[in-house]
Amino acid sequence: MANAPRNTILTNWIANRPMPATGGGTIPNIDPATGEAIGSVPDSGPADVGAAVQAATGAFGAWASLNGEDRGAMLHALADAVEADLDAIAHAESVDSGKPISVARTIDIPRSVRNLRFFAAAASQFASESHVVPGSMLGYTLRRPKGVVGAISPWNLPLYLLTWKIAPALAAGCTVVAKPSELTPTTASMLAEKAAGVLPPGVLNIVHGRGEPAGASLVTHPGVAAITFTGSTKVGRWIGEACGRDLKPCSLELGGKNPFIVFDDADVEKVGREVVRAAFSNQGQICLCGSRVLVQAGVYEAVVARLIEGAKGMIPGDPLDPATRFGALIGHDHRDKVARYVERAVADGARVLVGGGVPDRLPERVRGGAYYLPTVLNGVRQDCAIVQEEVFGPVCTVQRFEDEHQALELANGTPYGLAASVWTNDLSRAHRVSAALQAGIVWVNCWMLRDLRTPFGGVKQSGVGREGGWEAMRFFTEPKSVTINTGA
Ligand code: NAD
Repeated sequence: MANAPRNTILTNWIANRPMPATGGGTIPNIDPATGEAIGSVPDSGPADVGAAVQAATGAFGAWASLNGEDRGAMLHALADAVEADLDAIAHAESVDSGKPISVARTIDIPRSVRNLRFFAAAASQFASESHVVPGSMLGYTLRRPKGVVGAISPWNLPLYLLTWKIAPALAAGCTVVAKPSELTPTTASMLAEKAAGVLPPGVLNIVHGRGEPAGASLVTHPGVAAITFTGSTKVGRWIGEACGRDLKPCSLELGGKNPFIVFDDADVEKVGREVVRAAFSNQGQICLCGSRVLVQAGVYEAVVARLIEGAKGMIPGDPLDPATRFGALIGHDHRDKVARYVERAVADGARVLVGGGVPDRLPERVRGGAYYLPTVLNGVRQDCAIVQEEVFGPVCTVQRFEDEHQALELANGTPYGLAASVWTNDLSRAHRVSAALQAGIVWVNCWMLRDLRTPFGGVKQSGVGREGGWEAMRFFTEPKSVTINTGA
């Protein structure tokens, strides 16, 4: 098993050059599986953001006027470079985030490559509409890249979500200043280093640092034409307000509190496998995790038994051990927040069916890590914090329902509306419930089955706007309507 790297000093990447933060400030980069510092990341501020925006502005004209196929070829070359170094990038992702290296190798980094390739292809396929009124007029829509865009991403799927933003932005002809999470900065720097050998200077710039000042300066910089943000609802609301004041377009992908709804007629064996994956993948730190399991009375006991069994089978381990399937949380503060949610739920009357604390046995190397056991709670009221608020950890609640009406009432009864998973073999009910759910994404008899062409995003407090496929390409371009008089 490889050890974590030591003392990796990361830099910003501006105009394809590595640069420390102006003033030299740094933030320690902590390995959450051990609690130890493994290096540092620049603590950037407005001057660094200003330099990156200047570089991106300078590169915009030439990049925007390339044809889509040429931009696509460069994105493919970047994907090749990431793929060629997949093992090292996966290792860095695992060390930064605490996620099992097996997950980084088979999901995070391959998906990052796929994001780059998918939008590389989109660059050559993107077209606009025309509208004809015979003998009167011909209208067509020009779609021009918006300009310099700011991309701000979270720590839970670091390179996966960063590439999900920058790939469509670059494909559409925008230049980018990206601010990755300060908690998981390494793979963004690795990407930037590879991009320096592939993309013209200034097309992709990475500025590391905290949300405030680095992220906030990017949001409010007058040279930034649009913001694409993935992160918490709290920060998303602030970004939405700041963009609103400047009338700057923004796309906000925010938190979730997603129902996983099982009807009596579902295939309980399949449910048993998927409910565990939905609740505990990435230690429950995926915005799409099914953290509220709603089960109809007839299969309640059978589903809960499988969920408990599955949770017990997720043994916390060293993320760098290829056999580990359940790693560390992002940090000790976050782990303590998760623990407080569970304590409060118990004080509110919930029962812990499994988990509910830190593991008492861990491999030697990771004894100081930010671990929390996969946890299942029942006996929760709909108005409890554990049901209403995003915990973003390996904790799920189970609620019993009697009929479809009650299932929908519980499912829709939170401020969030990102995703939902519905399990039934009744075709009519599958359609009916899908239509009635307040969610941007509904899966029927599956969870997190993704086609990158489909719109991705949430309703209510889960966000504004959609990513994915043409939705993303449209966000990064500005439509201009041109009308030609074709009358005699
Ligand atoms: P966060 O909101 O704390 O931080 C996200 C990013 O925003 C980080 O890069 C951070 O430095 C930056 N930031 C913080 N304050 C800022 C400010 N004032 N201005 C500009 N940038 C600022 O979120 P997190 O803890 O990194 O990520 C977890 C959250 O992300 C969860 O709520 C999760 O549901 C959400 N998430 C949503 C999706 C989705 O697609 N809807 C996907 C993944 C994660």
